[in-house]
Amino acid sequence: MIDIFHRMTFRGGIHPPEEKDRTKGIPIQTIPLPEKVVIPLSQHTGAICEPLVKVGDIVKKGQKIGEGKGSITSTVHSSISGKVVDISPHPHPLGSDILSIIIESDKKDEWVDSLTENEDYLSIEPAKLKEIIKDAGIVGLGGAQFPTHIKLSPPEGDRVEYVIINGAECEPYITSDHRLMVERASEIVEGLKIIMRVLSAKKGFIGIEKNKPDAIAKLKAQSSKLKAHIEVVGLNVKYPQGAEKQLIKSILKKEVPPSVFPIEAGVVVNNVGTAYAIYNAVRYGRPLIERVVTVTGNGVKDPGNLLARIGASFEFLIQNCGGFSGEPEKVIMGGPMMGIAQYTLKVPAIKGTSGIVVFSKNPPSSPFNKGGQGGLYQPCIRCGRCVDNCPMGISPNLYGLQAERGMIDEAYNWDVMDCIECGACSYVCPSNRPLVQFIKYLKAEVKKKQK
Ligand code: SF4
Ligand code: SF4
Repeated sequence: MIDIFHRMTFRGGIHPPEEKDRTKGIPIQTIPLPEKVVIPLSQHTGAICEPLVKVGDIVKKGQKIGEGKGSITSTVHSSISGKVVDISPHPHPLGSDILSIIIESDKKDEWVDSLTENEDYLSIEPAKLKEIIKDAGIVGLGGAQFPTHIKLSPPEGDRVEYVIINGAECEPYITSDHRLMVERASEIVEGLKIIMRVLSAKKGFIGIEKNKPDAIAKLKAQSSKLKAHIEVVGLNVKYPQGAEKQLIKSILKKEVPPSVFPIEAGVVVNNVGTAYAIYNAVRYGRPLIERVVTVTGNGVKDPGNLLARIGASFEFLIQNCGGFSGEPEKVIMGGPMMGIAQYTLKVPAIKGTSGIVVFSKNPPSSPFNKGGQGGLYQPCIRCGRCVDNCPMGISPNLYGLQAERGMIDEAYNWDVMDCIECGACSYVCPSNRPLVQFIKYLKAEVKKKQK
């Protein structure tokens, strides 16, 4: 049945200030080599890698230095050439300390000599393409860091009809995907063609919010040259437009139920950065050792979009943007809606680092830096705003109360596990209630009980 009310959007959602003007027009910048990198052995969903090198080893750029065992894992590579000086736990931007390989640069920046180029990459067999993607350590670069070779492996009997490249970039402040789409459009389209070949998909889409007209124009120009079935779709500007199921609803008019994975509904969604990394791996044999990181916020002197080596410290990347302007109040990995506040600048950029946002103490930062993220909060006044704006149609107000009262089973029965942790509820709450933190607590307790 045709949905006559369809408007390239989804139910619920919010319209926070975009705050992208600082960096959206600034080209991707190559920065000096870091003197040292810290490569965590976990930058992906699944089993942590085991080191393949030891202290004192000489490594090259692109050399595999960590490999995981188990069905869900990925590999890690050195992002510079140099010497392994330590293998020990180190602060990680997602939280606790993680075993990491620390490499000092020899300043030569030499590639490992086993890279294989493939000019005729679209004639490679799908299984071989998947092996190349796996070997290159490619994971979802939108932040989820799910191993891509697994995402491209549908369960037996499931057929993937559509591939969607996610260029929504709805998170305020962040412009790394935007710049990549403007500056690397042809590579992204080639990456999409490779994914479509792996999955034998019949059609590909690139979904981009309409606040990026230059990116839409570039990708339309690129895909119109092709005979391939690729369509560029302009999407309404609304948060969280880039969440997988919301993107699928907007583009395909298809509801994917909470307990169902997109692949089971015949759709695979990959970020633009992931498509670009796939192209580089398949065409040039290059593993994932660098990515675009937006360094921005009112606490950074010269915000920009940096081509950052994996393992470069936040401190190094902020210094490459002129350092702090004034006294920093908060440093976040990712955007202010779904990002994670950091307690040290020693943490390294990892595969899922799309941005670093710095809020300054003076002037006071923004509507994003309020209660809900650590400040004082008040009791629920039952205004219903969180429910109206929740894109998943669940009940964030209830979860707040259930968390305060330890009602874990009730929260489970009220579908707390369906929450995508987008933060829209916390953002609109007039009582500044930390609803996402409440929900994360409830989910962790449910998982403990299930174990
Ligand atoms: S309950 Fe979850 S999905 Fe709904 S708005 Fe809050 S964070 Fe987003
Ligand atoms: S938005 Fe805040 S105050 Fe309003 S119902 Fe939700 S939790 Fe309660």
